[in-house]
Amino acid sequence: MSARQRADASIQAGPAELISGPVVTRADLNAALNCARPVRRASIGALLTESGTVDEADVRDALKMQSQRPDSRLGEVLVAAGKITEDQLYQALGDQLGVPYVRLGNFDVEPAALAILPQDLARERRVLPLMLNEGRLVLATDDPTDSATLSALRFRAQRPIEAVLASPSDLEAAIAAHYPPFDDAVLLQEAERLRQARAESSELGSPERMALEKPIVRLVNNLLLNAVKRRVSDVHLLAGEHHATARYRIDGSLVLVGEFSAALVPAIIARVKVLASMDMTERRLPQDGAIRMDTPHGPVDMRVSIIPAIYGESVVIRILDQSVGLRRLADIGFDKSGEQRMRALLNRNQGLMLVTGPTGSGKTTTLYAALQEFNTGEYQIVTVEDPVEYRLEGIVQSAVQTALGCGFAQALRHVLRHDPDIILIGEIRDAETAKIAIESALTGHFVFSTLHTNSAAQTITRLLEIGVQPYLVSATLAGVLAQRLARRNCIHCRKPEVVTAEVRELLGIGSDEQFWRGAGCAECLDTGYRGRVAVYELLQMSPAQRELIHAQATYDQIESQAVKDGMTRLTSQALSLARAGTISLDEVLRVRID
Ligand SMILES: [Zn+2]
Repeated sequence: MSARQRADASIQAGPAELISGPVVTRADLNAALNCARPVRRASIGALLTESGTVDEADVRDALKMQSQRPDSRLGEVLVAAGKITEDQLYQALGDQLGVPYVRLGNFDVEPAALAILPQDLARERRVLPLMLNEGRLVLATDDPTDSATLSALRFRAQRPIEAVLASPSDLEAAIAAHYPPFDDAVLLQEAERLRQARAESSELGSPERMALEKPIVRLVNNLLLNAVKRRVSDVHLLAGEHHATARYRIDGSLVLVGEFSAALVPAIIARVKVLASMDMTERRLPQDGAIRMDTPHGPVDMRVSIIPAIYGESVVIRILDQSVGLRRLADIGFDKSGEQRMRALLNRNQGLMLVTGPTGSGKTTTLYAALQEFNTGEYQIVTVEDPVEYRLEGIVQSAVQTALGCGFAQALRHVLRHDPDIILIGEIRDAETAKIAIESALTGHFVFSTLHTNSAAQTITRLLEIGVQPYLVSATLAGVLAQRLARRNCIHCRKPEVVTAEVRELLGIGSDEQFWRGAGCAECLDTGYRGRVAVYELLQMSPAQRELIHAQATYDQIESQAVKDGMTRLTSQALSLARAGTISLDEVLRVRID
């Protein structure tokens, strides 16, 4: 059968054969290459409609938008409008071209194939060699119709080339994963060159168009992939009048990672909006979105916040560390006795456990670790969070929707009808939420929540201040954990710390005691810190403490009773960590409670 006949035959085929699934392994790809694939002479719009990916109205809208921008492609318009994903577009393109569509995330690339092309060439031409098939080099590209590139590669590889299709984001991630990382400066130059070329041509390159162009796609992918690799919690993009900066938040501190022309910002932000399924054309209102990105470390979820600022939009991308939900108390920094005391608290079948500390003190991580202690399938665990950031297997997680008039108090009423054993309330912000939390703890539930207070003892006085009756606090409260996160010294560059007499006196440490801090090295990006550790104080309720609360005792009385009951004050615990060399005295000063 000739290619022409195959194409005709396929046009008569039923819808079942239209869009086939993507290829994800070398074995799949071998099979796909060895069977004839029909070329579909249908438009992308028709293919996507037939497969049920979009409806006809979406295609009509997109065609209308496309007619206003003559150079744009229908598929790109649909992706930009959030109607389809890049993955769906490229899958349909594969069918249209009769070329296998490969998802590269977990593809087992053949090392011998990878070695055939030098990495500079692979990056420059944006291809990834995947495997050898009957003497041909099979490589992934996002444009198998680019015959000039393919013939240049054939010449270089000295063998026939078989091109298969991959999406630009996927390709970028896979090239970054299989070849060592390369310099962002090169990318920025490329992006800037593209921008200038666009600015000089008649059609004043719109950011939306540039967002789909290779240099911008690569730049943004690189920024995010590097962030994931470096354990970054947030990526910040900030435009000034002439220059823009990219910063990473690592272990709680912002580190500058790149500077570039402010003129590139609109295109970079448009790219972020494509990834986050946001409205690309909206630049005057704040927007929130989410990205799920395939990385060499597995899929990573990101939360995007964009707000308009004076020099254009400002972007913050929170990278959600999925291992958070898997951590145990010991992983966070609880020592043996802390862990045992915490377990003893949690072993009660009803009561209220509060975790307290400022924003960024690791409260959520600790609460999740505590929930995991119960997550055995024996208990119905329900959470009310704002928002749900980390997904936990086996737990019913719900989000408050303040905009819809469903705040914590309202959401909790629904949760109580959901037959819970254990309830996690993201935060107690008002008296009403406090009241429901206490009522739930009184009626046979174990309730976890957080409060914005400094110390464990202060949490108790705060509950009384917002109007919770002392007898209810003493009847329900099981314990309070006050927590901070201290930055760990980088063990690669740690050296003795010079400590002034004032600091020694302030913290009550001996004149000959030795402390340590990181000096800064490549391992810690010159920060001197690497990773963080929880510093905490754990107040356990005792009969004596209950009596004090009942009698409306003062802060000092509650705190000294807690110490009598076995609590190590947070500052003392931080000092022990400093004595062990884990953290610096600067960190003790930063996290201590006066
Ligand atoms: Zn270091």
